[in-house]
Amino acid sequence: MDGSAIQALVGQELRALHLGVALFMGLLLLLGLLLVSREISFRRREQRSLEQRNRDLELEVQARTQELAAANQELSQLAAQDALTGVGNRRSFEQALAQAWAHSRRRQEPIALVMVDVDHFKQYNDSLGHPAGDDCLRQVAALLQTGLHRPEDRVFRYGGEEFVLLLTATDVNGAVHCSEQLRRAVEARALPHPHGVVTISLGVASTIPDQRSSDGEAMQLLARADGALYRAKEEGRNRLVAV
Ligand code: GH3
Ligand code: MG
Ligand code: MG
Repeated sequence: MDGSAIQALVGQELRALHLGVALFMGLLLLLGLLLVSREISFRRREQRSLEQRNRDLELEVQARTQELAAANQELSQLAAQDALTGVGNRRSFEQALAQAWAHSRRRQEPIALVMVDVDHFKQYNDSLGHPAGDDCLRQVAALLQTGLHRPEDRVFRYGGEEFVLLLTATDVNGAVHCSEQLRRAVEARALPHPHGVVTISLGVASTIPDQRSSDGEAMQLLARADGALYRAKEEGRNRLVAV
């Protein structure tokens, strides 16, 4: 074999080698691309499932937050309610009175308080028993509540068998009118009592708060309503007295 034939053969071998190397590199590149694209689609799937989990979590948090707000509202309603009768309790009365007083003072509107007390309730309990007494208080509270027609009129249990009505934008005539309707409604309900039927006595007081008065002065209006109630008891019960 002469020199030129050897050279041609070596050239041929070298080309074959280059081609082999190029093919090998191409294969490597293809394999690399394949791996990278698998990795990318894996990451995308991961990201999509993470996003979905995130959305699920956000919905869960939203639902829990709503539940919590509802529970809080229920709790604060319960804290303001009298457990026996479901009307407002004394604590919520004090808050409502201070607010209503400030509101009426600002607008120079009348505000009325009506103290309500069940007549001869001790005898009712003594003859019919304490559970029947509880039931009677629930019924009186319900009659007071349904007997008031304006949504801003509120009933509270002041303690024992005493209730208090808070009537905003109401002068003495309006308060007397409401009170007389309530007195009649309780009498007409005809709950049996050792004396006949269950009745209530009411003490009415109304005023336009002095512009310089403090919220504490609302308690003077309450004392006036209480004084009127005392007179209603003295004058024979099942009646109202206004001052
Ligand atoms: P008056 O006509 O002067 O108001 O007489 P009264 O008997 O209603 O008044 P008194 O203050 O002597 O008695 C009130 C009674 O109310 C005594 C108490 O046992 C009863 N009482 C107070 N709270 C409750 C309650 O939550 N349930 C029941 N069943 N009775 C109660
Ligand atoms: Mg009493
Ligand atoms: Mg009483």
